[in-house]
Amino acid sequence: MDDQPGDSHRGPCVIASANGRRSVELAYKRINEEGFDPAVAVVEGVGIVEADPDDMSVGYGGLPNEDGVVQLDASVMHGPTHRAGSVAALENILHPAQVALKVLQTTDHCMLVGAGALAFARANGFPEQDMLTDKARKAWLKWKHELGPGDHWLDTDQSDWDPKGERPSLRHMAPPGWPEGVPFTTGTINCSALTASGDLASCTTTSGLSYKIAGRVGDSPIVGAGMYCDNDVGTAGAIGWGEAVIESCGSFDTIREMERGATPTEACRIVLERIIKHSRRQHMRYRDEKPLFNVQLIALRKDGAYGSAAISAGKNGIPFAVCDEAGVRIEHGPTLSLE
Ligand code: ASP
Repeated sequence: MDDQPGDSHRGPCVIASANGRRSVELAYKRINEEGFDPAVAVVEGVGIVEADPDDMSVGYGGLPNEDGVVQLDASVMHGPTHRAGSVAALENILHPAQVALKVLQTTDHCMLVGAGALAFARANGFPEQDMLTDKARKAWLKWKHELGPGDHWLDTDQSDWDPKGERPSLRHMAPPGWPEGVPFTTGTINCSALTASGDLASCTTTSGLSYKIAGRVGDSPIVGAGMYCDNDVGTAGAIGWGEAVIESCGSFDTIREMERGATPTEACRIVLERIIKHSRRQHMRYRDEKPLFNVQLIALRKDGAYGSAAISAGKNGIPFAVCDEAGVRIEHGPTLSLE
């Protein structure tokens, strides 16, 4: 693997998935110029994407579940106190990451879900609003129209599915021939910050897998899966197929690899290999056994080294956003499928 510039970086910075260019810029300004706590800064940073109707993988404008309801997952972890807060399957709230931060700051709990999370948000003065945009509603309607009798969750007909045959048509995966430009996405934002005094925080927020079963919780709000922060070592976050990340504790494992001496980029790669090895569901493999799913990991080490890697991406590698004293930029990390 070629040297990755982020692995030799040192000092304060903020990193995020590629949709977080504006988020890293804002969070970096907050920690660097205004002395914000890193958890508060990353939550404010991802708030830009949560409120953006054009990002159909996060917050307002996110693609809904199979019932046409936007259900949001978010988590945040604060390095100095090693405390985490998260919400799952939260409806009608524009900024789920802010609710997760409230859980962290004002309760003795880590995670609130569904109706309880909404009641908690309401009690804390978060206004309710319809999170389904017209564009997302139309995409969902199109998905419903295109659903065929052969589209399943993963029912008994598929439990003995022959991996050498056609893969089953899963309801939440784009069916063959799904038109370009019509959203059928996975996506999420993870954002992590390192302050000049060496404190860390990480936050992940998402509308989750599009057209998921109502109540499905992905990796994003699961501490250790969708993000993790260890103030002695670093942070990590995950984007992509949440079930695979949960089953391998992806973010936790990435931090443990950095603790063992791996650079951030190496740590992401090692854990992605492990995720692929662990994910034995045959319907998630191509006929040649290559993974049919994607995961991106993003990692930030306590000294300021950072990196990202993914199972697959375009020919330039997997993009991610960085901001430090040199300014904001998009960099690219390696992908397993290109090597
Ligand atoms: N990881 C998210 C989930 O599984 C979705 C994504 O990042 O694409 O809910």
